[in-house]
Amino acid sequence: MPLTIPTRPVSPHSVNAPHSRAKRGVAMPDKLWPQHSVLTISRLNMTQEQKDLVQHNINKWAPHTNLYLKFIDSPNGDIRITADNNSHAGWSSVGTDAKNVPLSKPTMSIGFKDSPDGIAATVQHEFGHALGLKHEHQHPDRTLDLNRQNIYDEYESRRQFSYEADNNIIRTFSRPQVTASANYDDKSIMHYGFPASRLNGGPPIPRNFKLSEDDKKFMQSLYPEDKTLLGKLLNSSIRAMISSSPT
Ligand SMILES: [Zn+2]
Repeated sequence: MPLTIPTRPVSPHSVNAPHSRAKRGVAMPDKLWPQHSVLTISRLNMTQEQKDLVQHNINKWAPHTNLYLKFIDSPNGDIRITADNNSHAGWSSVGTDAKNVPLSKPTMSIGFKDSPDGIAATVQHEFGHALGLKHEHQHPDRTLDLNRQNIYDEYESRRQFSYEADNNIIRTFSRPQVTASANYDDKSIMHYGFPASRLNGGPPIPRNFKLSEDDKKFMQSLYPEDKTLLGKLLNSSIRAMISSSPT
């Protein structure tokens, strides 16, 4: 049976969003999912252990959004995650771009050829993209002094193109292009690690393995909680309905 959600009153979040609260991050404002919507998530070609690991790490974002994340057994979720056992890397559509992906294709890939901590970090990072986040190291105010040539060489050695290095690392966003926080957060799960080889100077930045406090606050600012009595009531009834509905 299709899941039906009660119609919510238009919420005043856009005016009440806590924009003054300190938060850090970069997001695509036109690619956010509708507020308070249900996102169904399919885990394709995974062992039960891989499914559990993916769900556990996606759920680290859940308390910091107003979305309802529902893991389903059918392959036609809004977000469709494939396992790549031969890679340590991952990729994902950004936010609602996933709707433009044909239903027969995944919207996200997780590389499982990595340490457990590395896989956990990949899942959290890629799901950040799925919720609409971009790379924190491309924040308008980033302070990195990149060694572009070394980064291009690194991409070339992996048989990747220089435009991919441009898109994923080198170019920064301008403020009109994105919703960016006032501050740049090099502890963000959306920030790559930058060893000395990728930099002309300055301290290397280690890879991050968990959501930073600013990741949580920034996500809350994008998908703010409805703190009214009606909002809380709807929230708990929708959660109860989702957990009891068949997959
Ligand atoms: Zn990424």
